[in-house]
Amino acid sequence: MLLILSTLVVLYFLLLVAKRTPKKQIHYAVLSITASILLWNVAVLLYLTFDKVPWIQAICERLYFLGAIFVSISILFTGLIFAQTKIKFIWKHALLFVVPVISIIVLFTNQSHHWFYTVFSLIPSKQIFGTYFIIHTIYSYLCIGIGLAYLVIFSIKNYGIFSRQSSLIFIGIMISLIIDAISTFKIFNWSTAIENIAFAVTISFFIIATVKFDFLNVVPIALQTVVDLISDSYVVIDEDFKVIDYNKAFVGGFTGVSRKIGIMEIIKKNYGALDVKRFMDFLDEAVREQKKVGFEMLKPMDEAIVYYMVEITPIYISGNHIGTIILKQNITEHKNNLQEVMQLNERLQSLATRDWLTQSYNRYFFDERLQQEIDLVNRLQAYGRESEKKVNAFGLIMFDIDYFKIYNDNNGHPAGDELLQTIVTVVKEVLYPTDILCRYGGEEFAIICCHTSEKGIKTAAEKIRKAVEGYDFRFQDKQPGGNLTVSIGAVYCSTANVKRKDLIKKADEYLYLAKSSGRNKAVFND
Ligand code: GH3
Ligand code: MG
Ligand code: MG
Repeated sequence: MLLILSTLVVLYFLLLVAKRTPKKQIHYAVLSITASILLWNVAVLLYLTFDKVPWIQAICERLYFLGAIFVSISILFTGLIFAQTKIKFIWKHALLFVVPVISIIVLFTNQSHHWFYTVFSLIPSKQIFGTYFIIHTIYSYLCIGIGLAYLVIFSIKNYGIFSRQSSLIFIGIMISLIIDAISTFKIFNWSTAIENIAFAVTISFFIIATVKFDFLNVVPIALQTVVDLISDSYVVIDEDFKVIDYNKAFVGGFTGVSRKIGIMEIIKKNYGALDVKRFMDFLDEAVREQKKVGFEMLKPMDEAIVYYMVEITPIYISGNHIGTIILKQNITEHKNNLQEVMQLNERLQSLATRDWLTQSYNRYFFDERLQQEIDLVNRLQAYGRESEKKVNAFGLIMFDIDYFKIYNDNNGHPAGDELLQTIVTVVKEVLYPTDILCRYGGEEFAIICCHTSEKGIKTAAEKIRKAVEGYDFRFQDKQPGGNLTVSIGAVYCSTANVKRKDLIKKADEYLYLAKSSGRNKAVFND
């Protein structure tokens, strides 16, 4: 009666899983378990029903063992698939079928089925087995053992040890194993049909876990795999800041990681005391204010610095703090890239606005800035207050190295280049930081002196002339007069509607005047 009932239950579950769409590998595996148990049960049922018909008895004997073989191999595959979500069938898997195939051959060849059993009976003590039966039994138990071990280990890993899924799977397995062991080792002499019932009970437990808790849903397994695959570390701590769960990356990034250890202990072991305090402050803030807190941490490692972005998210369920998730992301590459971009940007900026040889501003920058100054004067002269009108005037100074051609001819172009660089440093020394020194072209320079009075321009021009005259340049003794000097032309701009071109032209004219009147001079527009 129990047997019929269990057969019906198995049949019901078989249909239940069979109806499920879409089916994944795990569904097919469970289907094959149910189908083999069904075969096994039906064999026992027919054997009991037709106890007077020898040929049916003979078939059922064989079907009985066939069912048992398939049950074990199906359980093994279910375990494998459950552990890995999906398996790829390779030749190694085919090897697993070697023993079952031999068993089937032995069973269905008349002469050799005696290797399997000589007298068949559903009462264990009345069964007489052949030598091959030992191999078959060991193999079956191995398959079942490994399959069930996988099921238990991975259900604990995915759902937790105290979850209902794990408990159901565990209880189901235990019932079967105990009854099966009792039966096989002939501890009690009840009918072996009890094994079938036991397996039916087990499979029922599995399927309840399936239907009720979605045991066959592969999402949790995939999630576990994903969490282990991501390169960011994650760790979950409980309300006492003790580690509950973590992924592989977290183990890789820290030493001394294990469950139940305080997170502070781990941080202390891996970072300095300062970081521990900082970390604690952020953790407190996240928990107190019930919000996600992110911050950067760095760690010197083999002469390089590794940067991390740490994100602390407290978990609150109905107002109760039950734990905290900590995510740690390595942002070193991102940081370095950013730094590289910033450096490149700086370089581009410099290339666009500066003269490559002297690092003074270039002609393009000079033109832009000069126009801005002119616009400012125009605006202030038109709309500004009286006090502003005087201050916001500016001056333009142009200077040119005297007899530079001779310098180049005597000492070579590289020496000339060096002189240009030296002159820029010498001139910069006497200028205000707000003054804008540009290389106008060749050995001619221009300076915009902002917010300067007419007198100020004269002073600035004279300062430049004197500084160059007084500086002891390399090879200057070979210059005419034994000294390297500059000639200067300067204009002052305080009236509106001046044109840039005119201003430059004027300064250039004064410069020419300085040259023609003997060089080493500064000429102004008085
Ligand atoms: P003056 O006193 O009349 O200015 O005489 P000068 O020889 O300085 O004038 P000129 O304009 O005849 O000669 C300018 C020289 O400047 C010619 C050129 O070889 C040199 N020069 C221009 N640009 C550079 C440069 O970038 N590097 C070097 N080394 N020389 C340069
Ligand atoms: Mg010159
Ligand atoms: Mg020149």
